[in-house]
Amino acid sequence: QAQRLEGLDKNVWVEFVKLAATYPTVNLGQGFPDFSPPDFVKEAFVKAVSGENAMLHQYTRVFGHPALVTILARFFGKLLGQDIDPLTNVMVTVGAYEALFCCFQALVDSGDEVIIIEPYFDCYEPMVKMAGGTPVFIPLRPKTPAPGKLMSSGDWQLDPAELASKFTRRTKAIVLNSPNNPLGKVFSKKEMEIIADLCVKHDVLCFSDEVYEWLVYDGKKHIRIASLPGMWDRTITIGSAGKTFSATGWKVGWMFGPDHLVKHLRTVHQNCVYHCPTAAQEAVAQGFQREFEHYGKPESYFVQLPQELQQKRDRLVQSLLAVGMKPIIPEGTYFLIADLSDFKAEVPNLPDCEEPYDSRFIKWMIKNKGLAAIPVSAFYSTAQKRNFDHLIRFCFVKEEATLKAAEDILQQWK
Ligand code: PMP
Ligand code: GLN
Repeated sequence: QAQRLEGLDKNVWVEFVKLAATYPTVNLGQGFPDFSPPDFVKEAFVKAVSGENAMLHQYTRVFGHPALVTILARFFGKLLGQDIDPLTNVMVTVGAYEALFCCFQALVDSGDEVIIIEPYFDCYEPMVKMAGGTPVFIPLRPKTPAPGKLMSSGDWQLDPAELASKFTRRTKAIVLNSPNNPLGKVFSKKEMEIIADLCVKHDVLCFSDEVYEWLVYDGKKHIRIASLPGMWDRTITIGSAGKTFSATGWKVGWMFGPDHLVKHLRTVHQNCVYHCPTAAQEAVAQGFQREFEHYGKPESYFVQLPQELQQKRDRLVQSLLAVGMKPIIPEGTYFLIADLSDFKAEVPNLPDCEEPYDSRFIKWMIKNKGLAAIPVSAFYSTAQKRNFDHLIRFCFVKEEATLKAAEDILQQWK
């Protein structure tokens, strides 16, 4: 085994996806919709594979199918108010995962520090380590909500002085994930400006994972950090068709940024993945074309999906409250964290061991109650895991029947 893999063999998805598949479960664990993507992208995919154009079955351009990079450049260029060149500023990847991997491999050197905000999407840490870098963690700290109010993901904030103290001579990059998985926090413009100012001051890069960019609720706005002063030149922005069009299995992702950074990501991509599936890229290109034409209108999927999800979120909040699991209301994403501490039902007497409580609890819940969730400790560094192991993450991008089945399990729990 190569030394750089040491300690990185455990993976929460491998473990919990397998467990949820082994037992009959209502699965609110791994994040994926249990309903179909919208018709216009499905039809585009069918047409791509069964239509006249034989070339859609063959390799396409190494750094992204021309139709897809063209519309991505147009779409995001308009949103950012930035000229984006499809050939030099955009690259298509195998999901957002590959885009992230390319960022770290291409731009982080041995000895470099990368700042990661906790809780974080778990793969950032092993990816930094595989590149030879050192993750430096900074926590979002929960504030007590006003009396009578439920806690919101917005109550979890960075301490600006603490954040500033993490920037050193060795800092190469900061990873920003807004809306954040697993918390659902949508960083405000002010919070982003604090991060951006530090990046500019210390000449630090920003890897901005925006895969949940359309999933924001209660009128909140998603801010793209690349649009803030001084940030375009130092930011790689990452997106995913899996989240954007509810098609996680297609594994189409992308990134965009300045050519002086993207060219190094191209070197990684051309030497590992080389090329992404053509038909899926064609379908996603047509999906974006359609969304470009309907931008901001009621028929836009990017408008409709968050409206539907907000209702699902509110429904899950009510069912959790009814059984005494305290929800943290997410401002975005399709995840919701619940605090187990006051759960009004009987939980097993799990003997203490090294494994965090939430992880042991969920394994027990999958086997005995047929309900799957994800332990929040998996989104924390080793030093912090035990401080957050009373929290579990539910995924609510599910059919009504699935949410109802989960609700029934919680209510009938003795
Ligand atoms: N980033 C975040 C924050 C995610 O939640 C996910 C979920 N899969 C990814 C990246 C990876 O996205 P993809 O499935 O497009 O690789
Ligand atoms: N992003 C999804 C989640 O957080 C899926 C992650 C995965 O399967 N690796 O649930």
